[in-house]
Amino acid sequence: MTSRKCSPSDFIFKEELGHGSYSTVYKALDRRDVKNVYAIKVCSKQHIIKEGKVKYVTIEKNTLNLLARANHPGIVKLHYTFHDAQNLYFVLDYACGGELLTLLHKMGTFSELWARHFSVQLVDTLAYIHSQGVIHRDLKPENVLLDQTGRLMITDFGAAFTVDRAEQLGAHCAASSSFVGTAEYVSPELLLHNQCGFSSDVWALGCMVFQFVEGHPPFRGENELRTFEKIIALDYSWNYELHPNKIATGKPATNPLIVSLVKKMLTINTQDRISLRGIQGSSWFDGVDWDDKRTIWRGIWQ
Ligand code: ATP
Repeated sequence: MTSRKCSPSDFIFKEELGHGSYSTVYKALDRRDVKNVYAIKVCSKQHIIKEGKVKYVTIEKNTLNLLARANHPGIVKLHYTFHDAQNLYFVLDYACGGELLTLLHKMGTFSELWARHFSVQLVDTLAYIHSQGVIHRDLKPENVLLDQTGRLMITDFGAAFTVDRAEQLGAHCAASSSFVGTAEYVSPELLLHNQCGFSSDVWALGCMVFQFVEGHPPFRGENELRTFEKIIALDYSWNYELHPNKIATGKPATNPLIVSLVKKMLTINTQDRISLRGIQGSSWFDGVDWDDKRTIWRGIWQ
C-alpha cells in the first residue's frame, strides 16, 4: 500500500458493485488519472460499531496490508485506506469480471479445462497466503473475483487468522476457533474440535474443485445442521461418476484424476489430508510448472 493521503473527493464514485454485511462497494475512478479504476469498499463507522464488526474490519485491513506487499496476482490488492467522520474506505483493485460463483451459476458447471485453470490459480494463491502465515478460513466461490481476462483474485479476508512465526514452524498448526465461514465449506475439524489450521483451507478448496465440475458444493443439507452432519459423515457423491454414460447424462464422466484429488482434499483427518505441495504434485496438474508464474497467471479469455 502506498502512503498517499486520500479523501473521498480524490475519486469519482460510479455505480454500486455490491454490498456485504458491513459495507457497500462502488466502482470509482481516480480524479488524478481516470484510467485508474478501483473498487472502493465503504464501511459505515456507526454500523460496524453497532453490529460488533470492528474486529472483522481490522482483521481484513491488516491481512490485506500484509498480503499486498508481494503484489501476488491472486489477491485483491489494497491500494489505500482512509476515513472521514462517517466511513472507512478501502481502495481495492477493481475486479471487472465479478464473482466466480456468478460465472459458475451462468455456466452450470465448468469444463475440465476451466476447472483446472481456476484450480491452478487458487493453489498458487493459497500457497502464497499460507507462506505469509495466513489462514483464509472463508474460501468459497463468492470470495473469488475475476478480472477481464479470467484471472482470479481471492478477496474477503475478514475471517482470516494469522499464525505467528514460531507456531508456523511446527509441522502441524491449528488455532482454536469458533464457527467462522460458510456452512457448506466449513471443515470437519472446526465442527468436531473447534480447530482450524492451514489444512482447513485445503478442505474448502476441495469443496470448490468438486463444485466446479458438479455445479454445487459436495455437502448441502436442507438446513445448516443437516449440512454439518453430512460433512462429518463425509456424505457426498459424484453425479457424473455414478452415471458415466455420456449419452444418458449428456456429459462425459468426471476425470478420475479429479475424483481422486478431491478425495484426498476431503479427508476428515487433518494429518492424512493432502498438503498444498501434495496437490501441486497431483497427476491432474501434470505439466504445470509451478515456478512459471507467467503461464499460471495467463487469462482464460482475452
Ligand atoms: P460479507 O462482508 O458479508 O462477507 P461480501 O464479502 O460479499 O460480504 P463485500 O466485500 O463488501 O462483501 O463485497 C460486496 C460485493 O461487492 C461482493 O459481493 C462483490 O460482488 C463486490 N465486490 C467486492 N470487492 C470487489 C472488487 N474488488 N471488485 C469488484 N467487485 C467487488
